[in-house]
Amino acid sequence: ALLKRLFDSGGSVPLSFELFPPRSQVGRATLYETVDRLATVASNGFSVTMGAGGTTRTGTYETAVEVAERSQRPVTAHLTAWGLSCDQALEAAEGYWAAGVTRILALRGDRPRTTQMPKPSGFAHATELVEALRKIHPFEITVAAYPEKHPEAETLDADIDHLKEKLEAGASTAFCQFVLDPAAYGRFLDRCADHGIDVPIIPGLMPLEGWERLRGFARANGTNIPNWLDQLFAEAEKTPELSAHLATAATVEQARRLIAYGAPAIHVYSMNRWPTPLALARLLGYASQ
Ligand code: FAD
Repeated sequence: ALLKRLFDSGGSVPLSFELFPPRSQVGRATLYETVDRLATVASNGFSVTMGAGGTTRTGTYETAVEVAERSQRPVTAHLTAWGLSCDQALEAAEGYWAAGVTRILALRGDRPRTTQMPKPSGFAHATELVEALRKIHPFEITVAAYPEKHPEAETLDADIDHLKEKLEAGASTAFCQFVLDPAAYGRFLDRCADHGIDVPIIPGLMPLEGWERLRGFARANGTNIPNWLDQLFAEAEKTPELSAHLATAATVEQARRLIAYGAPAIHVYSMNRWPTPLALARLLGYASQ
């Protein structure tokens, strides 16, 4: 059954693609092209990030509404609590509801790296934001999960307890931080089941392009880097002609392993780029239309 699932997923695994609000006109054109290219394979829609500390609040709103209209796919708007007062966070949520964006990824958020902003008197944890959102509208709420533990959590079990609280507060699914070792996701699913969590826990998949940068992200998040991947991309760094081929092949391999471990869907961190995500979708059986 495992092998069948691995090789026969035939477009049946729902895909969503994460986007960030563009920072320039060129960035906007790139975003539009990515949305147009991925719309037919984004069976679980798109999501739009919010800059740390709520810094792209307007850009996130505008991008979310534009992407929904352009793609005719559901859009999940990321909403971070830190950096916003409770009223500001709920005002942003009201704006989404009024614009027809009814899916929210409710996050606590991180402090922006560039400023020493003090923690504001808004929602302290994502759980409180979920509870407050629940009270205002029947949003479809997603929360964040960390297969290799959130960096601040003392233990993985304590972190999963907090994940469970977020879900019980009214979230119906979770998107995971990306893993580079799909087995870590498999173990996490088992651990979540042990804690009685039975909602879809959707893995995050990073297209394996720009390894140097990705290695930096991985280190910052405490993401384990398997030796085989590190060696593979060390070779790609020395042989640029190989980079794109290895990136696509390894990304598809990661996706298939995540599916084999039981992924109910995959959330792809597109970084506003479409070629590897689209190749992935095709190789998972999404036919061109
Ligand atoms: P929480 O769920 O509040 O957890 C934060 C920490 O507090 C954890 O260690 C948890 O174990 C602990 N905790 C939770 N509840 C309690 C409690 N009641 N008592 C004590 N401890 C508790 N950041 C952005 O700024 N913008 C984005 O668009 C964005 N998108 C993301 C998308 C995904 C899929 C993921 C996985 C992360 C994203 N992030 C984003 C990063 C996220 O904001 C950070 O990881 C942040 O540090 C934690 O947010 P959270 O919602 O998981 O927080």
